[in-house]
Amino acid sequence: MTMETAVTREWFDEVMVPCYNPMEIIPVKGSGARVWDQQDNEYIDFAGGIAVSCLGHCHPVMVNAITEQANKIWHLSNVMTNEPALRLAKKLTELSFAERVFFANSGAEANEAALKLARRWATEVHGPEKSEIIAFNQGFHGRTFFTVTVGGQASYSDGFGPKPGDIKHIPYNDLAALEAQMSDKTCAIMMEPLQGEGGVVSPEPEFVQAVRELCDKYNALLIFDEVQTGNGRTGDFYAYQGLGVTPDILSTAKSLGGGFPIGAMLTTKALADHFKVGTHGSTYGGNPLACAVAEAVIDEVSKPEVLAGVAEREAWFREGLEQINQKYGVFQEIRGKGLLIGAALNEEWQGRARDVLVAAGKHGLLLLVAGANVVRFTPSLVITQQEVEEGLTKLDQAIASLV
Ligand SMILES: *Cc1c(COP(=O)(O)O)cnc(C)c1O
Repeated sequence: MTMETAVTREWFDEVMVPCYNPMEIIPVKGSGARVWDQQDNEYIDFAGGIAVSCLGHCHPVMVNAITEQANKIWHLSNVMTNEPALRLAKKLTELSFAERVFFANSGAEANEAALKLARRWATEVHGPEKSEIIAFNQGFHGRTFFTVTVGGQASYSDGFGPKPGDIKHIPYNDLAALEAQMSDKTCAIMMEPLQGEGGVVSPEPEFVQAVRELCDKYNALLIFDEVQTGNGRTGDFYAYQGLGVTPDILSTAKSLGGGFPIGAMLTTKALADHFKVGTHGSTYGGNPLACAVAEAVIDEVSKPEVLAGVAEREAWFREGLEQINQKYGVFQEIRGKGLLIGAALNEEWQGRARDVLVAAGKHGLLLLVAGANVVRFTPSLVITQQEVEEGLTKLDQAIASLV
């Protein structure tokens, strides 16, 4: 194989494990909310790498942070600590309820740590009987065997042999079902404070409030999976801050690295003390390169003007989507919060979210779906008004091609 060998999409089918079905285009370059493919076609990016690229592509603060750190030191191991990890942890505790931080490399790993910590706490404080994890239908928490089993789609965890046990699922926003399930055996409730993959579904404020109260009543822990909602996505630094309900454990990833892999579990000192030396770990967790990038990302995203800008951008999207809807009558509802937006298709368009995504791609727009009936938008938190307008024009054209 020579340097000149052109890489093509066909290679995917030849050399990759087929658990994805990627689009035909292969992007090679990005800047802000724009991406260019191998043929130099330009795309507006409303997908943001699935709520990851919170500062768009190649933002100078990220490029500077990674370049600077790349010339210092890349990796040490947890036998030694490092400056970027300590600085990042300190800032995360300042930005949240948390007093302690555990670093991982992904959302699933942050959740795995959260679930293991909850079980360890319950075992040590209340005894082994207190092991039940309550989670929600359509919830998504990652693809390790524990997290995918806690996730609310059995098809993702079926077919791999015996599953981790004592996990119960109930409908999201169903207080009666939750009350019926809670008992002294409940170890923890794990929930997304706005379901992302499950269709962009917001929690009822009274429901989240009641979840917290029930956790307190039954001595259970509340774990908020903020892997998708965290780091400014909803306009608060963490979604829990907008809900006024504080969890005991919070997981974050995706936007935390802005495009570099990192995840973290945040918690209180009292809970953290149940993870002693050797109880849990990760080779790459707390890697200096990842932490240096994440520090630059959170410094930028936590600026009041960036967080305030999220609500402003949400308004641009809602307005543009309403206009498209007036022309073509495709959406039943525009939902979500901040820049985690779902456009739910109406009766006639059921099952066609992927058609919209494919048509958008042909018109130079990158989108996401959340299930078969919801088109999802998770763009950069600093996307410009010009980029939003161009993207919405392309969406208009894509939908026009489908009617
Ligand atoms: C994406 C996601 C995960 C999984 O994160 P990975 O980095 O893919 O492991 C977990 N929880 C939520 C809510 C997510 O959106």
